[in-house]
Amino acid sequence: MSKRTKKVGNTGWMGPRYGIRIRRRVLELDRARARAAACPRCSTITLHRVASGVFECRRCGVRYASGAYLFTPPPPITRSEKDATTVVAPGKA
Ligand SMILES: [Zn+2]
Repeated sequence: MSKRTKKVGNTGWMGPRYGIRIRRRVLELDRARARAAACPRCSTITLHRVASGVFECRRCGVRYASGAYLFTPPPPITRSEKDATTVVAPGKA
């Protein structure tokens, strides 16, 4: 039995519509969406997309708000940001 949508994959439903570049972008996101991402809390590859922008860890159960299609881990707190929020006790500086 031959594979019907070898070239277009999950975008087969689109047929010849919308243009090849858009269909390829959709396919790229579609494939990436199915892959699990690393959980920032327990660092296991168990993070799955629950809904648009909602990702849940299947190990520790934590839910994250992130990108609509792909999980983008929160940026680490940099030194300059830390320093900006540090309150210096009066008379010690
Ligand atoms: Zn986790």
